[in-house]
Amino acid sequence: MRPPWALPEALFIDACTRCGECLTACPTGLLVKGDGGFPEADFTVGRAPEGCTFCGDCRQSCKPLALREQPGQSPWSLRAFFSVDCLTDHNVVCRTCGELCDVGAIHFPPTVGGVARPQLDSAACTGCGACLADCPTRAIRIAPPNFPSLALRGAA
Ligand code: SF4
Ligand code: SF4
Ligand code: SF4
Repeated sequence: MRPPWALPEALFIDACTRCGECLTACPTGLLVKGDGGFPEADFTVGRAPEGCTFCGDCRQSCKPLALREQPGQSPWSLRAFFSVDCLTDHNVVCRTCGELCDVGAIHFPPTVGGVARPQLDSAACTGCGACLADCPTRAIRIAPPNFPSLALRGAA
């Protein structure tokens, strides 16, 4: 997963000089040196609890313009996924992730005779990762929309 505003992968690899300026600039510590020395967003729980605040510091520090704002495009296509480890899948009430989501992308539709489960509004989710930090069962992943996993529940 590349930093926000990264060019499409082939163009990004061409443009990025692996200088590491974006890593140094990131105030939340989300960016790390990944494969081949290219920057990646690392949403490992406990690493960068704030996730991405979309402050733009990484983009502004990128002199070769490998991170570049494109008119009408969001910073990235990442979003949240909930796995079957979610407490509500085991009939335990929990709404922690919903409380952490500043944009209100996580809803808990009432369930007759059961526990309300988190449901993601994919259009609202920015993929910031703020919802991960306090999930008691580490049931949330941030990933691209086509993230393949049978262990994850879908979004709205
Ligand atoms: S936008 Fe800000 S918080 Fe997000 S990766 Fe770039 S520097 Fe870090
Ligand atoms: S914080 Fe974790 S366990 Fe709680 S509702 Fe959200 S995904 Fe489920
Ligand atoms: S990734 Fe961010 S916007 Fe999406 S559900 Fe989590 S906290 Fe909300």
